[in-house]
Amino acid sequence: MSNLKETSIRKLETAAEVSHFMADYYLELDRASKDGNPKIAWCTSVGPAEILRAMGVLVYFPETHSAMLGATRMATDLIPEANALGYSPEICSYLTADIGAFLRGTTPLTRIYNIESIPKPDVLVFNTNQCRDVQDWFNWYAEKFNVPALGVYTHRNVGDVTEAHITSVAMQLQALAVDLEKVSGKALDPAELTRVVKLSRDCSDIWKKILDTASATPAPLTFFDGTTLMGPAVVGRGTQKALDVYKNVLAELERRIETGGGAVDGERFRIYWDGMPVWGRLSAHAKLFAGLNANVLASTYCNSWIFSALDPDDPFNSMAKAYTELFIVRSDQAKEEYIQNMLKFFKIDGIIYHDSKTCPNNTNCRYGMPQRLESITGIPSLTIHGDLNDLRLVSDEQTKTNVEAFIEQLEESR
Ligand code: SF4
Repeated sequence: MSNLKETSIRKLETAAEVSHFMADYYLELDRASKDGNPKIAWCTSVGPAEILRAMGVLVYFPETHSAMLGATRMATDLIPEANALGYSPEICSYLTADIGAFLRGTTPLTRIYNIESIPKPDVLVFNTNQCRDVQDWFNWYAEKFNVPALGVYTHRNVGDVTEAHITSVAMQLQALAVDLEKVSGKALDPAELTRVVKLSRDCSDIWKKILDTASATPAPLTFFDGTTLMGPAVVGRGTQKALDVYKNVLAELERRIETGGGAVDGERFRIYWDGMPVWGRLSAHAKLFAGLNANVLASTYCNSWIFSALDPDDPFNSMAKAYTELFIVRSDQAKEEYIQNMLKFFKIDGIIYHDSKTCPNNTNCRYGMPQRLESITGIPSLTIHGDLNDLRLVSDEQTKTNVEAFIEQLEESR
């Protein structure tokens, strides 16, 4: 039986400011790419953006571009282009969609911002903290553009983050800065690095405050809002502009809390999302849950751009700590402790695990975690099978049926 009905989801007015921020960001990159000045570095989404920015280069994030390929539903059609080069359909569909788009000579930037092509890199910088796919992805482009790809190779499956972890990563970051000086032609100014790390930490703090507003009942925010609001936290950390736009977003959310306005009308169920979004189904999933009076209001994904360890007085060590403390880098035990805190803080009734077929790195339901967490917390969960970008791996009907049954189960257990 379906309880699905039309339920309104309240849009945030300040989301338009985030859109303007993203437009300015891509247009600035486009100008630099055409002029050859300033230099452009491509960086992984949880890579050392602060060092790059402190060296005066603009930073472009291919993962954000590939998420746009997913959200605009261009990705599925492009993935086979990369498969034909030998990149398996089973590896990261950010990688395959992005390389596929490059091979096809297309980008969503054209339709959205009237930008002809992605910006050309002078250097590519990756951090393997999230996965090995980024290394293959960036190395492919390094060869195409005949520019260096520089990597930070970090620990995975980390339990407690120790001094040994931090020192080994911090030393790599220092070596990276020396290599980057050769590319940028400028020495790294320690005062500028301190300034950028401070801005990055401030951005992280305000992004955390924004996400934490969803602990209010009803929550003023949804996970699906968060996936688009997070743009400045990903591509703009280390800049004043990102902070400015987030101050307005936070103020609007706080006003909503004061007036008791939830993002989803008649919120009855509070849901936590673990894993990647299905980019091509953001709106459909937002409507599906809202139609069942369920608000998916918190996630590990959006929280991944909170870097509370960043410390302007100790830039290299604190960057090493912040980029190793991340959820995706951690052991199952550390992840389970983290999720338990999130469940309590956000007063969660049920968990959705997204088993994203091409991203095992950001999929946490394959080794018994849902069962272990349910036995500790009593909070039930549902695993939905799908993918971040490849819509051939998504069954809308199955997702709908399973989500409806799950919410019905939550209703019956009240
Ligand atoms: S973490 Fe997953 S989605 Fe992100 S780049 Fe790696 S494999 Fe792709």
